[in-house]
Amino acid sequence: MKKQQKVAHGRAKKSLGQHFLVDPHAIATIVSAVPRGATVVEIGPGRGAITDHLRARAGALVVIEKDDQLAAHWARQAEEDPRLQVAHGDVMERLEPVVAAHRPQWIVGNLPYNISGPLTALLVARNLEGGMVLMYQREVAERIAAEPGSGRLCGGISVISRYCWNIDTLLTLPADAFDPPPKVESAVLRFTPNGTCFDQRTFLALQRCVRTGFAHRRKTVANNFRGLCNDAIWQQCAIDPTLRPERLTMAQWMRLASTLPPA
Ligand code: SAM
Repeated sequence: MKKQQKVAHGRAKKSLGQHFLVDPHAIATIVSAVPRGATVVEIGPGRGAITDHLRARAGALVVIEKDDQLAAHWARQAEEDPRLQVAHGDVMERLEPVVAAHRPQWIVGNLPYNISGPLTALLVARNLEGGMVLMYQREVAERIAAEPGSGRLCGGISVISRYCWNIDTLLTLPADAFDPPPKVESAVLRFTPNGTCFDQRTFLALQRCVRTGFAHRRKTVANNFRGLCNDAIWQQCAIDPTLRPERLTMAQWMRLASTLPPA
């Protein structure tokens, strides 16, 4: 690995969710979840807490960074390291083209918490050969990792995240694992393929279905799907329509999504 320059960077920017990871055990756990030699995309390298170790481990590393000053730092590093590439910009726009161009096996990131929900909806809508290791605010991680049907924590994001992923929690972290410390605890989730062959139409149908199904989470599914589902559909899908959406299993969501007419 080429010599790594220290990042010249001023105060952490709240607007970019900059809470830099300083806990060595957390850094080692995240990095070692990625196999040596893999092609990796890192979202938000920041000052390099994870990046510097990933550079030594990955076969190729592409970092996506929105902060101008940090992106410029990584661009300078990339000039001296052919295995490192930089995409400067908003991950919400850059993710698709970066994934299409580099075909990563793994995606890693201590995610900016302000966009972690919509970003996860983008991330789970693909199949990677390897997987993803992502840091979230703890409550968000618990919702994403909740098993469909398991109750209160389960929401639309839990269902779409399980379409083609197994999810396990690698770490939970206190606020002082970061500088500056956030006001919340954090957790790291590992996503690994569950063997489902990703199909865009099926995924979009599932996404539409859970949006409707969780529109009012305290209502029954009969109410949320009023006008869209009749008794025959509930029977065909083997779903009790008096249940709340948080009680439907993954198999039931899949059956319902494939039974509803396309939008
Ligand atoms: N990976 C570093 C670490 O663990 O110390 C930094 C993590 S910090 C929580 C989030 C990083 O994402 C910051 O570097 C921030 O500038 C970057 N970021 C924030 N919003 C972004 C966006 N929309 N697109 C790309 N990067 C973003």
